[in-house]
Amino acid sequence: MSAARYPGVMERIVANSVEEARTGCWVWVANRDKAGYGRMTVRVDGVHKKLRVIRVVLQQVTGKDGAGLHAGHACANPSCVNPHHLSWQTVKENSDEMWGRRRARGAA
Ligand SMILES: [Zn+2]
Repeated sequence: MSAARYPGVMERIVANSVEEARTGCWVWVANRDKAGYGRMTVRVDGVHKKLRVIRVVLQQVTGKDGAGLHAGHACANPSCVNPHHLSWQTVKENSDEMWGRRRARGAA
């Protein structure tokens, strides 16, 4: 059961984030790295590891470890850990999305 990989971790994520009413983002208020991404320590096979919170969230909700994939934000807020704003992306999808944001929205 991959969902039980980090027992209680979603409760910790909810406890360490604050929902922003306007955007629906869950803004991580605990430890962040220089780029603004939340970080947390989880125990993997008895070893403590410091991971980006968005990767942990996606691992919980998708059951995939995301090896080789980028944890992308639909909301472009690096501190956001809302599972509904996150998805696994290939590196190409991620750069396409960045380009799409720079261009006018609505182009197919
Ligand atoms: Zn968000």
